[in-house]
Order: sequence, then C-alpha cells, then structure tokens
Amino acid sequence: MTDFQAKQIRELRMRGVGYRAIASVVGLSRDIVRNYCKGHGLDGYASALTLNMKEQMASGAACMCCGKQIVQAATGRKRKFCSDKCRREWWSAHPEAIQRKATAYYDVTCAYCGKPFKSYGNKNRRYCCHECYVRDRFWREEEGREPYVGPAGREEVKA
Ligand SMILES: [Zn+2]
Ligand SMILES: [Zn+2]
Repeated sequence: MTDFQAKQIRELRMRGVGYRAIASVVGLSRDIVRNYCKGHGLDGYASALTLNMKEQMASGAACMCCGKQIVQAATGRKRKFCSDKCRREWWSAHPEAIQRKATAYYDVTCAYCGKPFKSYGNKNRRYCCHECYVRDRFWREEEGREPYVGPAGREEVKA
C-alpha cells in the first residue's frame, strides 16, 4: 500500500464510504482496506453513503482524490478534483495515467472524406487514411477544387 492509497482510504472512510467502494477506488482488495481501517480506528463509522464512490468520481460528483463532493459549474470543462492540491496529488500518485492521457484517442473528422475516425495520440491528424491524404493533397486540380493550403505547423498525416 502506498502512502497515497493510505491517505485516500482515510479520507474516504471519514466520509462514511464503505470498504468495498474504497477498495475499488484505491485498487486494493476489500480485506486490505478493512484491515487497514481496523488497525487505524476507522472501522467505527457507519456507512452512510450507499452510492458507489467510483461512480461518483467518474460522473464528476466527487473528487477523484479525496472523495469530497464537487459542485460543478454550469458551463466549462468538468472538474475531476475538488482542489488543485488534490489534482496534483492524484496525478503524482498515478504516473501511468499521464502516459495514457498523452496517448489518448481523439475523435476527429477526415478533412477529405468527412468520415469520423479515431486518431491515436495526435489530435491534429487530418485524414482517416493515406488514400484520403493523397487525394486531398495531390488530386485537387483533377477534382476541380481549390489548391491545397496546409495548416501551418501541423502534422499532416501519419497513415
Ligand atoms: Zn479532493
Ligand atoms: Zn478519409
């Protein structure tokens, strides 16, 4: 168990979250969580929350780090953490998530055929396939379209 997991267990338990929900959030078995709570005087709290904490975190209702309720603004990007402090702590405890984030899939639309496709790790990709790139780039005259103007500084295709 890492210090971070121990801290998460403590904070979630203080909010009355059940062992099972805590276990799924921190990625440890229910027994480990229960034993830790017993050993740290955290087993006396009645579980008031029946909602699965992980679900609340995924939906943005609770902080991914400490489980505190988050009040979401009506507009703008959904917050995942109650504070900058929690965000920093969580990311530093999950370096593998940064990796995953960096190589996320992006939903983009092909600039040539208009087909939506998934681009892996590159949100500036413009074409679904090499064929579309070639068509858009070199077949413009034949198809009676405007000359090609590439987006400055963008990677054009990796297909
Ligand atoms: Zn928090
Ligand atoms: Zn295409």
